[in-house]
Amino acid sequence: MAAGFRTRGQPAALAAITRAVASERPPGALLLAGPARVGKTALALDLCAGLLCLADDPARRPCRACAACRKVDHDNHPDLHRLAPSGAGLQVSIGQVRSLIGELALLPMEGRFRIAVVEAAHRLNPDAQNALLKTLEEPPAGAVIVLCADDEAALLDTVRSRCTRVRLGPVDPQVIAELLVERGLADAPRAARLARAAGGRPGVALALAAAPEALVVRGRLTRTLLDLTAADRRERLAAAPALLADALVLTDAARETPDAGPPDAAEPAPTSDDAARGASPSERRRAALALIAAWRDVARDLAVAAAGGRGEVRELELLEEYERAAAGIDSAASAAFLSRLDGLSAAVEAYANPDLAVDVLLLTWPRTPRTA
Ligand SMILES: [Zn+2]
Repeated sequence: MAAGFRTRGQPAALAAITRAVASERPPGALLLAGPARVGKTALALDLCAGLLCLADDPARRPCRACAACRKVDHDNHPDLHRLAPSGAGLQVSIGQVRSLIGELALLPMEGRFRIAVVEAAHRLNPDAQNALLKTLEEPPAGAVIVLCADDEAALLDTVRSRCTRVRLGPVDPQVIAELLVERGLADAPRAARLARAAGGRPGVALALAAAPEALVVRGRLTRTLLDLTAADRRERLAAAPALLADALVLTDAARETPDAGPPDAAEPAPTSDDAARGASPSERRRAALALIAAWRDVARDLAVAAAGGRGEVRELELLEEYERAAAGIDSAASAAFLSRLDGLSAAVEAYANPDLAVDVLLLTWPRTPRTA
């Protein structure tokens, strides 16, 4: 295999992308689907570098050393167009999609292909998806469209059916730990701990490693949520600002890693940790989504601990807290809460008031009897 692929783990997905690069005949429309921050953008950029690379032998692409590969790495290749959600609703707008379609209709400037990468394609609203349909069905010669989606269910059937689907799954923690050590971000013991906390998502591990305080914040957030299983209604609602502030720190950490996509240029980065409630609508939505994502991990681990699965809990140092909270939790309530989390996450991405969604979650988070 060429040395230039940066994707870690994902043997099946990487094999499909390697074949597309070596054959020089990629599908016109690709859907990379898998959990958030598992490496979809990294795989998409491997494909872009591979298709645009100037190395003579297709089997050696991407070389990551030629002018084209370097432009892909610096995000300034004229034949590569990246689209990420922006604005308060974190949507990909129909205007963005239309200008992308316009770009794809032109001939390649430097390479053999013109490539569009749509990050967070699960945030394309139905109008934007419909605008893409014709291009997905009959891509202009040399055009390749890559949709990256956390949640395939958010895409129209008509969009899904026009794409070649490549599925990404969780990455072995050992592989993630090696990546962290290789990049000099952590020594072996810390890398193992971060990889475990990341639950198979290299993007999460990189974010945690890049921001030393993130692991502390994440631990505090987990502990607060576990403590809240024994709290009353008033205590639960009172905890919202601190939880959102911690979640905002985690989103800031995440924005500094490549897998998280480019920062939203329209808005300055948040400056204060305790400003979650007073932050801009877009930041509040991001904070709520980060909180929901972290909460999903905690809820899953709580369910795992309740079922007696000690070894499977992500944050081993919190195992006692998990077991204490799990002792009084009803497993049906726990399952109902997990499905509520998924529903509210989709609602907050689409339109729902993020503060209200967090309050609903706080009030429905399973309760344990208070012990002395
Ligand atoms: Zn190259």
